[in-house]
Amino acid sequence: MTPYGWQGKILRVDLSSGVISEEPTLPTYEAFVGGIGIGYKVIWDEAPTADPFSSENRIVFAVGPLTGTHAPSSGRTEVTSISPHVYAPLAKRALVSRSGMGGYWGAELKFAGYDAIIIQGKAARPVYLWIKDGQAVIKSAEHLWGTDAFTVQERIREELGEPKAQIACIGPAGENLVRIAPILHRSGNAAGQGGFGAVMGAKNLKAIAVRGTRGVQVADGDKLNALIREIRGMMPGPLGSTPLSEGTLSWTEKHIDPHDINKQALRFNQTKSCAPHLNKYFVKHAACYSCPLACYAYNYVPGAGGGAVSCTQWFYSWLGNQDEATFVAKQRCDQWGIDTFEMFPMIQLVWYLFDTRVGDKRIIDYVCEAGMLTSELVTDLQDLHYPPEGNLGCKGIETLLRMIAFRESALGDMLAEGFRRAVDLLAARFEELSLPQVADAVRGWLRMEGIMGGVVGADGGWGMSGHYDPRTYGYYWAVNFAVENRDPNRHSMTNLLEWTGLSFEQALSIGRKYWGEEVADWGLSDLDRDRKKPLTWNDAYSARANAVLSRFIHLRACIKDMLTVCDWVYPMMTSGLAERDYTGDISLESRLFSAVTGLDVDQEGLDEIAERVWNMHRVLTLVQWGDWQPVNLRKEHDQIPDRYFTPLETHLLPPFPPAPEPHPPLEREKFEAVKAEYYKLMGWDEETGVPTRATLERLGLKEVADRLEKSGIPLK
Ligand code: SF4
Repeated sequence: MTPYGWQGKILRVDLSSGVISEEPTLPTYEAFVGGIGIGYKVIWDEAPTADPFSSENRIVFAVGPLTGTHAPSSGRTEVTSISPHVYAPLAKRALVSRSGMGGYWGAELKFAGYDAIIIQGKAARPVYLWIKDGQAVIKSAEHLWGTDAFTVQERIREELGEPKAQIACIGPAGENLVRIAPILHRSGNAAGQGGFGAVMGAKNLKAIAVRGTRGVQVADGDKLNALIREIRGMMPGPLGSTPLSEGTLSWTEKHIDPHDINKQALRFNQTKSCAPHLNKYFVKHAACYSCPLACYAYNYVPGAGGGAVSCTQWFYSWLGNQDEATFVAKQRCDQWGIDTFEMFPMIQLVWYLFDTRVGDKRIIDYVCEAGMLTSELVTDLQDLHYPPEGNLGCKGIETLLRMIAFRESALGDMLAEGFRRAVDLLAARFEELSLPQVADAVRGWLRMEGIMGGVVGADGGWGMSGHYDPRTYGYYWAVNFAVENRDPNRHSMTNLLEWTGLSFEQALSIGRKYWGEEVADWGLSDLDRDRKKPLTWNDAYSARANAVLSRFIHLRACIKDMLTVCDWVYPMMTSGLAERDYTGDISLESRLFSAVTGLDVDQEGLDEIAERVWNMHRVLTLVQWGDWQPVNLRKEHDQIPDRYFTPLETHLLPPFPPAPEPHPPLEREKFEAVKAEYYKLMGWDEETGVPTRATLERLGLKEVADRLEKSGIPLK
C-alpha cells in the first residue's frame, strides 16, 4: 500500500555506470521525514567526506510528505550535497550544505512517483535525466551543453514533446564549476546558495526534467481541508513591511481573505517595492505550487524577455541602479546560472578594487598590470560603478557576469570562486608578486560594511553573502551563523519582529506566549532601538534566553526543510487577525504532518525528529571538519567573523537602502556564554560542541555514535 504523504520510492541514478534503480522511502527514511532529512542521511551513509566535485559526492533532491498536497506553501524542494561554495579554510574536508527551491518541480517529482532522487557518479558526456510517471532515463545533453538555463528548459520540453515537464537545470556557470552557480527552475526559482549548480556541472548533468500524473494519498482529507481553511484565514497578504516596501504593507493590515480567491494572490508587488522604476513592466504576481501568497513578480521587459523576480534578484536595483539594466542583470544571472544574492558582495568588491588606492594607483590598475584583466575589460567594468545618477546601462554588469560565468580573464576566474575565496586568491597573487601592500589593501575589503548596514554584502557566513546582522538581531543570531555551514537565512524571527508591521511590544507579547516571559524579554531585541544601544543583556537570563531562541530557529528550520514548506510562512509566528492579537500558530506544521501522513505526531514529536536531523548535520560537520579525526567544534567551527566584535571601520559606500550605522559590536564573552547554553540545550558537549553519546542514542542514532567512536572520535 502507498503510505500516506510519501510516494514510497526514491530514485537512484549512478551517472558513471548509467544504472538507474529504485529503493523504498520507508522505513529507512521515516525517522528523517523528507527533504534535508533524506539528504543528510544519504550523505552520512554513503559519502560523508567526498570532494564536492568528485564522482563520489551525492547530490540529493528531496521533497517531503506535504509536497504535492494542497497544504499551503508546501511546494518546495531541498537540495543537499557537499558544497563547493562553503568556505572554511580550517576544515580538512568540504562541508555539507543545503538549498531550497520553489516553483513546481518538487510537486511534479511527487506526481511522477518519487520522494527523492539520489544522484551519484559522473557521466562520461553531458546528459540530462528524464523522469515520467515512474520511469527514468538518462539522455544525451551534448547538444544542450553551453545553452543558457532558459533555453535549455524550452529545448528539453520541445524535444520530449512534453510542454508540462518541470525542469531543474544549470546554465554555463554550473558547467564551468563556478562555485556560486545555483540550480535553476523556470525563470526565477533557484536552489541558490551552496554551489549545487557546479556539483551538477561536475557530474556532467545539465538538467532533470520531471512529469507526473499521480496524486499524493492523504490520510485525512477532511482534516487537511479544515486546516487549509484555518491557515488561509490567518495568512498574511503581502510579504510585509520590508524596508523596501511602500507604506504599511504589513500583513497585519492586509491578511488574506480566505473567501476571496481574487485577493489571495494579491501579495505585495516586488517590482513596485524593489524596482519602482520598472513597475510599468510588471505583468503579474507569481507563486509556487500550492501557495496562495504569490510572493514574487513576473515582469516582461522589451529586449530582455520575461522572468520571475523575487527580492534579492533585484540586486542591481538595491545597489542603486535605476534603469532597465536592473532587470537585465537578473535575467543574465538566471540564464547563465549565477546566484543573484552573491552579487551584492561581488559588485561591491569590484567597486572597492576601483576605489582603493595603494600609492598613486588603484588596486584595479595593479590587477591589470599583473595581467589578470585586459584594459578593455577594465573600461567595460568601469560602467558598473556606483551610480551617482542611478542609470548605468547593461555594459558593466553584463561584463562582470560574463567574466564570472565563463571564467573570462584571471580576475573573472577568481571571482567565479565566490567573493570570499576571490579576496584570498587575489591577495595571495599580490603576495606572490611581492606586492604585500596591495595584498593588504585587497584584504581590507573584509573590514568594510556593505549594504543594509552590515551583513548582506560583506563577510557574512561561510564565504557567502549573509542574511541579517547579529549585532541587530542578537546573540541567538550570532550562534546561528556559528553553527550553520552557510548563511543561516531563516525567516522565523523576521516573520515575528520585522515584517509584520507590529510594534516591538506587540511582537514581544506574542513571543511571551511561545517561550515564556523570561526567554522573550531577555532574548528578543527591538530591532528599531537606538543605534548606539547595545543588545539587551541580563547576566541571569540572557545566555539561556538566546540559546532557547537559537534552538527554536534551528529545529523549526529543519522541520520546514524536511516537510518541505516555505520559510516565508512557517513557523507562522504571527497572523493577520486582530482578534488573535496577531498571534500565529506554531503548531501548524505538526497538524499538517499528521493530517497528511496519518501519523500521530504532535509538535514535540516533530521537534524531536528535527533534532535528529539537525544532529545529522552536526555529525557530518564533525567528520568533515576533522576528516574523521577528533576536533573541537566549539573552538574551530562555531565562530563568526571578527568584524562582528569590533567597531565599524568604514562604510564601503553610502548604504542602499538607506540604513543607519550598525548597532554596537558583540562581546565575545556573551557570545561564548550563549554558545555554552546552546550546547547544554542540544545535549552537546559544552567543551567541544560535539553531540554526546546519550544525545545521539536518545534520538535513535546509536549507529551513528558507534561509527564515530569506531573511527576514533570519542564521545562523552
Ligand atoms: S511564499 Fe513565495 S517562495 Fe514561499 S511558497 Fe509562496 S510563492 Fe513560493
